[in-house]
Amino acid sequence: MSKAGTRKSIFITGAASGMGLETARLFSKGGWFVGAYDVNLEGLKTLEVELGSENCVVRSLDVTDRTDYGKAISEFGEATDGKMDLLFNNAGIGKGGFFDEQDFQDVLDVVNVNFIGVLIGIHAGVPLLKATPNSLCFTTSSSSATYGMPGIAVYSATKHAVKGLTEALSIELSRHGIRVADTLPGLIDTPILPDEAKANAPTEGMFRLIQPIEVAQAVWSSYHDNPDRLHWFVPKEIGDLDKASAMDPEGTRASIASQGPLAAALEEVKAANAGK
Ligand code: NAD
Repeated sequence: MSKAGTRKSIFITGAASGMGLETARLFSKGGWFVGAYDVNLEGLKTLEVELGSENCVVRSLDVTDRTDYGKAISEFGEATDGKMDLLFNNAGIGKGGFFDEQDFQDVLDVVNVNFIGVLIGIHAGVPLLKATPNSLCFTTSSSSATYGMPGIAVYSATKHAVKGLTEALSIELSRHGIRVADTLPGLIDTPILPDEAKANAPTEGMFRLIQPIEVAQAVWSSYHDNPDRLHWFVPKEIGDLDKASAMDPEGTRASIASQGPLAAALEEVKAANAGK
């Protein structure tokens, strides 16, 4: 008998913190066998103690390392008799700033972790997903995939890429019986958010600060309750923003430019131009 036995199994990246951690806890409580992966091994070890070593495998993994990601998937398969009910590609980093002022290595890091890491994970994970009836490939996109967001342009672009990939693969991978979906969370109270963003978060509306358990619940519902839904907006009002920006991109641009980090800079440019 394999370590997972007859239990369903989930492979989670970014599992040492935030949404990945809450998802590991929720699925473990629900009787699932958990594979938890992160660059933060210390956080994973704490999780292993919490879940019980018989209920999980934890392993250091940098999602940008294709060879090691492949090894992690094989080891997971050994613990689950070659099955994977749910692949949750969730690891991400959030280095931002105005694009032209960003260190280019930071730009590449964001693309590598948030998008290339997802490509590596799905490519390596498909054989196990394929071997598992009713499997789900789930990825963390972002509310910043509803419209390109100033101040986090590259981060936002990687999350658009994840959203587009999800849409295309949900059709392609259906030929293997694999479901594909993603989540577009708003502002979630996790360590990735700068303290300033948390302190300035509105108390209501779609960008209120939300606890990571709500994203974990979306992952749970995607597998168990609504297998057909493609995008899980958390909170669901983010879906309204998605529709609005598709219907009226120029209006959305004006609205975003009038608030947020670019407003002051744009006012300065306008004033300088008016003086010419
Ligand atoms: P978090 O910082 O708490 O968790 C991210 C985890 O990813 C960390 O444990 C980190 O060590 C891990 N990680 C980073 N680089 C890695 C790598 N190369 N390989 C493996 N693991 C790596 O933040 P979170 O908010 O839980 O982030 C989870 C996902 O949610 C990310 O993809 C993030 O972009 C996305 N997201 C976050 C928010 C938010 O407001 N918090 C909103 C939308 C989307």
